[in-house]
Parts: sequence; structure tokens; C-alpha cells
Amino acid sequence: MTTKAWRSSIIHCIADPSKVGNDKAYDYYEDGILVVEDGIIKQLGAANDLLATLDPDVEVEEHPDALIMPGFIDTHIHYPQTDMIGAYGEQLLEWLNKYTFPEESKFKDKEHATDVAERFTNELLRNGTTTALVFGTVHKESVDAFFETVEKQNLRMICGKVMMDRNAPDYLTDTPQSSYKDSKALIERWHEKGRLHYAVTPRFAPTSTPEQLHQAGKLLKEFDRLYLHTHLSENVDECEWVKSLFPDSDNYLDVYDKHHLLGERSVFAHGIHLCDSEYHRLHDTGSAISFCPTSNLFIGSGLFKLDKAEEHSINVGLGTDVGGGTSFSLLTTLGEAYKVIQLQGENLSPIKSLYLATLGGAKALRLENKIGTLKPETEADFVILDKQATPFIANRLANVKDIEEALFIFMTLGDDRAIKETYSMGERVYAKTIMS
Ligand SMILES: [Zn+2]
Repeated sequence: MTTKAWRSSIIHCIADPSKVGNDKAYDYYEDGILVVEDGIIKQLGAANDLLATLDPDVEVEEHPDALIMPGFIDTHIHYPQTDMIGAYGEQLLEWLNKYTFPEESKFKDKEHATDVAERFTNELLRNGTTTALVFGTVHKESVDAFFETVEKQNLRMICGKVMMDRNAPDYLTDTPQSSYKDSKALIERWHEKGRLHYAVTPRFAPTSTPEQLHQAGKLLKEFDRLYLHTHLSENVDECEWVKSLFPDSDNYLDVYDKHHLLGERSVFAHGIHLCDSEYHRLHDTGSAISFCPTSNLFIGSGLFKLDKAEEHSINVGLGTDVGGGTSFSLLTTLGEAYKVIQLQGENLSPIKSLYLATLGGAKALRLENKIGTLKPETEADFVILDKQATPFIANRLANVKDIEEALFIFMTLGDDRAIKETYSMGERVYAKTIMS
């Protein structure tokens, strides 16, 4: 048995602030202790209380100028788009054809896929992200390469092979039958192996025939606890296209609904242009939305209506949507989320922001009993933020009045430089001083 403790300022969310109010939504210890035993959190509390009871043999690692919080959870990201961030000048449909599809064609080559998966995973950890819901490409090799990579570091990760049988270049399409067969083989190989989970991943409605969506629904029925990961109502032209491709469906979400793709482990990226009945249906089925502000701004898709999702009690997580998104950092992503909400005349509080990047993401993925907080008996995935990350951040933090203001500074000015160390199951998987 290995027991170790970390001493620092510590914060985590314990509830959704939009339901219980900011004050009741988090616990904060200015001088706190986090005790981890064999990868599982055993105790969390004030140093004054816990130090006296701690076995004197237990090593206590001290981080005086830092802030510990749960590892970040990215609920929508494409690892094969790592090398194409910042592709210029297009909105969604042109962006896919001009940049994305040629890039994704390279992942038929397993060696290339592994190279990108390794760099992608390092980038996640450098940014404090310990769990992500990840798109592969249409090639099953892409998913093998990803899972093989993250398994080595014992990360809790979710990935799936893209299903795409129309409206994409021939070199990048499968068929209803081959997508079913390949997905099934990957599920049998990887789903719930250690900390890994599989997501059935039709790219989005326009690139799947009804027959392929039917096959996706069949997989969800045949295996327990699979995820469904796809896009929904990102861009106005896309929504019009879906209407013309599926004239029998009442709305965009209904295309997925008719094929039994909604449920408690279904995560829909974007959900910007939704009607009331779509919000109701997302709520009724327990489906979640991934809010991807840097992508929505960069590809000019629109402004996500967080208030609408809250009004309908829909689970919302935060997504970077790399490479439509422009940053791996969920801190940077929260800075942009704040601006998206500001443009709609509302405020996104620092506690709600912390919630979205941690516990909210865990709830969207139905993993809140394992990750997303620092509660005892959950997995010790956490990050240590550096209050001296840059001279500017250090100066700004020296003048804040409370933890909420400090959090807001990290979200406004912070990025990968603010991440001092990242831990998975109590093991250090990234340290700025050593690895950068
Ligand atoms: Zn996406």
C-alpha cells in the first residue's frame, strides 16, 4: 500500500452552482491536505485538522504557492486534428472538406496515428486535462493507436472510430456493415479495459446514411455502458443540410432520436441552434451537450445558450473541439466561454466555470463517482496550478480578495503555463519543471 499526501490551497466543486448557488457549490481549503492511497483519494481537509491524525511515515509534498483542483475533463476533442489547429478562413462544411478530411486520411497509417496520439496525450497532460471524450478517424487503427498510448499512463479516456458512409471523400468512408464490424471489434478489445471506455462515433448526421445510424443504435443496444459521441446543430448551413437530407425528421436531434442514439451516455458537441423540443428531448433522455467556445468562435458557428441548457436541466460539459477549437487548455477555453456568455448579456461565474471543467464534465460523462471532484473514494486525478506561472499572473494574484477572484484570473490569463503538475491515479504524469 502506498500512501502520500499533498499540502496546498485546494478547491473542488461539489454541486452545480446554478442549482445550489455559488457558495454551496464548492469546498475550499486555503491550507489543505489531500491524502491518496493506491491511487484513490482517502482524505481531504484543512491541514490543521488532518496533519495531527496523519501517520508520521506518510510523505507530505508541499506546494505553498499553488492551487490543487480536480483534473480537467474535455468532453469533445478530435485527436487526429492535432496538427491542423488554426486552419484559416472557412466555416464548418468548407473547413471539413478543405482541411479536415485530407488530414484525417493520414491515420490509416498506424505509425502516424501513434506519433500524433503520443503528442496529443502529452499536450492534454501539459494542460491539466486528465480525461477526454475523443474522436478518432474512420480507421480502426486510429483508435488502437490512441488507446495503446493512453493505457500506458493509466488515464481515464473515451474514444471511438468515426462512422461515415457518405458525403465525404471515398478514401475516408466506410459502409454500414464495415463500420458496425470495425466498431464492434474495437469495443470488444477496449471497452472498459482498465480505465478506458468506447464511444460509438458517427461523425454527424450528414455523413451517415439512415442505415449506418441504425447500426450505431444496434451497437448501443448490444453492449452495456457504451457512449454515443457526435455533433449536433453547430452551424446554420449544416442544420439546413440535415433538414434536406432527413425530410422525415422533426428537427436535427430527431434524426439521432429516431435511431435510438439518445441516452445517459450520449454527448452531443455544440448544440447551438436548438429549438425547445430538442432541449426537452435532451433533458428527458439524460443526454449531454459539450460546450466548445473557442471552436464556436473560431469557425464562426454561433453562441452557445448555456441559460437554455440550465433552464432545461441538461448536463453540460466543456469541450476544446481541437482542431476547430484553438487551444488544448480548458483554462483558456473558460476564458472564451466567459466572453460567449458576456455577448449574450449574462455572466459566467468562476465557480460555474470550475464546475464546467471538472464535475460538470464528469456528470455529462456519468463518471462523477470516479472523477471530477476530490471527494474521498474517488480516483486521484488532479492538477496543481502555479500561482507564479508568469510574472503577470503572480502580480495579478497578489491583489485578489478571495478564491473566486483568483480562479477568475487563472481562467482569464492562464493556459498551459499555469499547470505545474498533473496527476493520474495519484501518479505524476506531467511536471512543468522537469518536462518542459
Ligand atoms: Zn468536433
